[in-house]
Amino acid sequence: MQLNELNPQQQAAVRHTQGPLLVLAGAGSGKTRVITTKIMWLIRQQGIAPEQIIAVTFTNKAAREMKARVNALMQKQNEVLISTFHHLGLTILQRDIKALAYKNNFSILDPQDCQSLLKELGQKGEKINADLLNFYQGQISFWKNNLITPDQAMQQVDDEKSEEAAYFYDRYQSLLKSYNALDFDDLILLPVQLFKAHPEVLMRWQNKLRYLLVDEYQDTNYCQYELVKLLAGKQATFTVVGDDDQSIYAWRGARPENLAQLAQDYPQLTVIKLEQNYRSSNAILSAANHLIAHNPHVFNKKLWSDKGRGQTLRIIVTQDEQKEAERVVSELLKHQFQHRTAYQDYAVLYRSNHQAKIFETLFRQHQIPYQLSGGTSFFSRAEIKDIMSYLRLLVNPRDDAAFLRIANVPRRELGSNTLQKLSHYAQQRHASLFQASFEVGLAQQLTENSYQRLQKFTRWLGYFSERSQKENPALIARELIADIGYEQWLLETCSDKRTAARRMQNIEELIDWLQRLQQEQGKNLSDILNHFMLSDILEKQNEEKTQLGVSMMTLHAAKGLEFPYVFLVGMEENILPHYNSQDNASLEEERRLAYVGITRAQKWLIMTLAKRRKRHSEFVICEPSRFLQELPQNEVQWEGHGFETKISESERKATGTAYLNQLRQLLAK
Ligand code: ATP
Ligand code: MG
Repeated sequence: MQLNELNPQQQAAVRHTQGPLLVLAGAGSGKTRVITTKIMWLIRQQGIAPEQIIAVTFTNKAAREMKARVNALMQKQNEVLISTFHHLGLTILQRDIKALAYKNNFSILDPQDCQSLLKELGQKGEKINADLLNFYQGQISFWKNNLITPDQAMQQVDDEKSEEAAYFYDRYQSLLKSYNALDFDDLILLPVQLFKAHPEVLMRWQNKLRYLLVDEYQDTNYCQYELVKLLAGKQATFTVVGDDDQSIYAWRGARPENLAQLAQDYPQLTVIKLEQNYRSSNAILSAANHLIAHNPHVFNKKLWSDKGRGQTLRIIVTQDEQKEAERVVSELLKHQFQHRTAYQDYAVLYRSNHQAKIFETLFRQHQIPYQLSGGTSFFSRAEIKDIMSYLRLLVNPRDDAAFLRIANVPRRELGSNTLQKLSHYAQQRHASLFQASFEVGLAQQLTENSYQRLQKFTRWLGYFSERSQKENPALIARELIADIGYEQWLLETCSDKRTAARRMQNIEELIDWLQRLQQEQGKNLSDILNHFMLSDILEKQNEEKTQLGVSMMTLHAAKGLEFPYVFLVGMEENILPHYNSQDNASLEEERRLAYVGITRAQKWLIMTLAKRRKRHSEFVICEPSRFLQELPQNEVQWEGHGFETKISESERKATGTAYLNQLRQLLAK
């Protein structure tokens, strides 16, 4: 692609290479395209080596998409580091974490593991309830994202609950360190602390880096912003692009004000605005503009495109959630049949992951291929977590969260009493469970039998751990799974044989994946595990296998993407806006989320809602989302409106299994 395929403002943004640049523009105006073209421009026209460029984006999916776009432009694979903030942090730490007195083989714990650690920290015998745990975890994450240390947190708190949280934060952080483990927030926090404490390390990274680009800048939090500032250095050769109307991660500490902050921190900042939208029809843009006008604005922008008016937006009201899903399927099949489009041209977007299930089942029933992004990823399945915990232990035997997960999976007769004594002993000695199990002092506290069983287990772990440093990860995993008799254990514990077989099949896929990473990228077990913690394996598999399905994902996951035909489902109060988003700030964020959803669509958009929905086996009456009322009413078409209890004739015709089957048969011809 040539520069002249961009509009003058985009071209200016690409050409601007001296000093900091902010591209501030609405959805679909070509911000990401500026970034990808600019990477090519920097390499081709400015003679910058690919490995001296870092591009950061928000999700793994977006990073892969950007990589693909750049590779297509350059017509070959290249060495530009295109990653998420977390991956970038990981890359930095893999090289330099030693300076912070961690070992190189650190483990990364997912939020669930971190909760188990927090649980452990409670007073002996005291049970912390789930709400409180969530509060602590949220609070700790907030502090980390704002670069607040445990000491500072302690000084800031002014109520008892927060004080407790600060106290937990302190102990949690020391525990993580003693386990040589990091949580997700540490992946950004530690590089910032590293760079601040070790200017020589920072200098090395600054010298390596000649240009930094950040997509979806509106969703960076304070800590990520600091990382950008540090890496960019005095030269400040960076481009960030963003849209304040698409900031949807306030709950994770994102600050739309970062956009304004940038102008303060860099008085020499150049700002370029883009106005033309290249994605959507004007019917879609008008709806988006009307909706977002209900939010207060720092920067005003109005999207327009030269794509003509396009099809009127439809809002379809259905009887209940089953009918809603059936209606989506029937509209989809009908449209596909008439226009001979491909499945991947369609997306079903929703507010929360649990909404996917009913669509998934129906799609399967009608053999509609689909890809589910996020949700219950492969990675969070119990069997995968079990085996991953084993592998994590092999790489880092000090990983206590993993140790506790699998100590009795399969059963080893290590009773909770034994494990408690072990934990207690380890805490006193500031050692990991693995290390503590070898200490003589422990033997005196356990019965001879328990001690022997524990010894047998940890020696076995040690043996595999040593081998895993040199041998092929997939082979080690296979041998380990056989050795522990995992299949037999599944057969004994699963409700039926089919479930056990399905779980075993998932494990096979895991081994295949290890094999592939090892073969294609020469990664060792430790690299693979860290990589694994950050990427959604399911997403990856789908991407590799097929691109033929309907996309199903949450609005959060859809950011930055585009699809010709979009269904925005569950447009009801308490779903979107979400039921716990009732204050003004949260409502504005929910509105931005709806805005993100609408602006994903290129050709048409159908929004659906149900009159009633099952909640805990009871039907509740639903109300249309207030955001629907905020659309230009003379430009949208309501269907099946009115909350009568009888199913309307058209609805009955347009849904139902018989009807869908007929459609399918037509399609198959
Ligand atoms: P979002 O805010 O949703 O992330 P964006 O501003 O990043 O959107 P892009 O994804 O870069 O927008 O672009 C939207 C679509 O418009 C893409 O299909 C892109 O290829 C196309 N596009 C961008 N700029 C131009 C242009 N100058 N001419 C033609 N098409 C363009
Ligand atoms: Mg984009």
